[in-house]
Amino acid sequence: QCVAVCPTAALTEVNNTDKVWDMLNDPKKHVVVQVAPAVRVAIGELFDMPAGTISTGKMVSSLRGLGFDAIFDTDFGADLTIMEEASELIHRIQNGGRLPMLTSCCPAWVKFFEHQFPDLLDIPSTCKSPQIMLGAIVKSYYAEKMNMDPEDIVVVSVMPCLAKKAEAARPELTKDENNNVDIVITTRELGLMLKEAAVDYAGLPESDFDSILGESTGASVIFGTTGGVIEAAVRTAYEWITNETLEKVDFEQLRGFEGIREGHVQIGDLNLRIGIAHGLGNARKLLEEIQAGTSHFDAIEIMACPGGCIGGGGQPYHHGDMEIIKKRQAAIYQEDRNKVLRKSHENPYIKKLYDEFLGKPNSHKAHELLHTHYVPKEKI
Ligand code: SF4
Repeated sequence: QCVAVCPTAALTEVNNTDKVWDMLNDPKKHVVVQVAPAVRVAIGELFDMPAGTISTGKMVSSLRGLGFDAIFDTDFGADLTIMEEASELIHRIQNGGRLPMLTSCCPAWVKFFEHQFPDLLDIPSTCKSPQIMLGAIVKSYYAEKMNMDPEDIVVVSVMPCLAKKAEAARPELTKDENNNVDIVITTRELGLMLKEAAVDYAGLPESDFDSILGESTGASVIFGTTGGVIEAAVRTAYEWITNETLEKVDFEQLRGFEGIREGHVQIGDLNLRIGIAHGLGNARKLLEEIQAGTSHFDAIEIMACPGGCIGGGGQPYHHGDMEIIKKRQAAIYQEDRNKVLRKSHENPYIKKLYDEFLGKPNSHKAHELLHTHYVPKEKI
């Protein structure tokens, strides 16, 4: 079953809601769901709530009502991404590694550089995206803790993004031929499921994500907007490099909506030069500078969609209305401020995961489960 997303029906969007219903109705399956940061600040729009409404607690209740066995947060995966990505960045800086390092959590961006810049495949971070990292941890650490066969676990992701469906199927991101994530639905598809189930979304009570993969920090929430991934990485890298507490965690110089931005952050003796681009046309300019040897950045964050994931192709339609995107972004930063912990490495369940299972960031086991490689693709 397909839903047309293009006026001429030349492009269609695959609708995975039937697959999710089938899994929820299969008593032999333990069905886990994870939800990306940008979904919680947009899904309310499908139920006549104003743009910029944060409905995290209602969203979790709605998923519990649909019958998922465990409701986890992709934000936990984002905190884990920062543990690995900040370690990788520090390692490259301190050991003369290839710079700038590029973020790698946006699959549309990954596909773009594989096709368009196959000579630069050694510069993106090797980190898998937060949704894939969380899926990998569900099917290993969580399965072990629950004494379950990973084959009996189904991981469903709710994403603001159409490209995340293709990402989940990438052979480089699967393990032993099993997907880390089995089914991806968009924010709009979750809205459809809730409407099919006649859920009164606005009237739902608030509830919390499930332990042990539901705890997250403010750093992970800001993954949902342009500049957020690199800001989260800087919060952790600062404390790891200086061994000092970072008192002011808001890096205003990394925020905003300009298509290409530049920010400098002083970390001890290091002046970290950061580039940020959203939209692939802007990304191309930064990549061409790297090819030409004129780039002066140490790290670059790139997101394909305008505004980052808050403006993703799976979100409630905004028809290019930047006021809606700005309200979603304001909600993301509010959700960050609402959190008691705002640095990924402070997440107690992330610490527990390393203590009990992964060892250290960038350990052999972490590499096996949480890192990937890129494949040159034909230029199109
Ligand atoms: Fe998906 Fe767009 Fe976010 Fe990239 S920026 S991960 S394409 S929603």
